[in-house]
Amino acid sequence: MDLKVTNNRHIIIGGEAKKFQVAFVKNRKRISIVVTDRGEIQVRCPLGTPMRQVDALLTRETDWLDGHLNQRIKNKRLAFQEGAALPFLGDCLTLRLAPWGKGSVFRCGDDLWVTRVDPDDVDTNLDIRRPLERWYLRHAQAYFPSRLTFWARIMGVSFNNLNVRNQRTRWGSCSSRGNINLNWRLMWATPRVVDYVLVHELTHRRHMNHSPAFWQAVQSMIPDYQECRNLLKSLGSPW
Ligand SMILES: [Zn+2]
Repeated sequence: MDLKVTNNRHIIIGGEAKKFQVAFVKNRKRISIVVTDRGEIQVRCPLGTPMRQVDALLTRETDWLDGHLNQRIKNKRLAFQEGAALPFLGDCLTLRLAPWGKGSVFRCGDDLWVTRVDPDDVDTNLDIRRPLERWYLRHAQAYFPSRLTFWARIMGVSFNNLNVRNQRTRWGSCSSRGNINLNWRLMWATPRVVDYVLVHELTHRRHMNHSPAFWQAVQSMIPDYQECRNLLKSLGSPW
């Protein structure tokens, strides 16, 4: 994709100067505005679009942008506000924010503390989400290997490498060489559902497909695997 990006533009929204990025994309037919996950405004337009046309469009859409950005901030705040519920291996933890400390995350009973956060001025991405994700990842890296080894032994199969990953779309995978990838987000599920995913991937050591024989083998280990699959499908993202 041919791309030329301009970063130094801004627009006044709600009385505040807000930066935006313009990407000139070859073969693009029309202009569009995107607000990214991080609340950045991006304009994508055909190569050679005059800047005044971009400015005019943004000025026309100021109200829409204002509403969109505010909504985004509100949603994020809600997800990470003091007292928010965080699922963790079948437990329901409560998010606690503290202005003191060194920016660490620690569990105390069923409270999950994120420190060095000013609850009135939260940049959710930097201050809460990132340390929280690191915490979940660390616990996934500690939890998955022993469970996987446990199931491998019971099932009489081997695996090569286990990688715990940060993925948006997949819970796990198993390559023909026996390398298993697991998503740390599985820690949002219950231990039973995690076990189902581990057994699923290990079963691929015998069946590299989803044939009836594959599901039969899964069922012999996890009789209620169908329910686990449904739970996994309905597992919402807490943030
Ligand atoms: Zn599979």
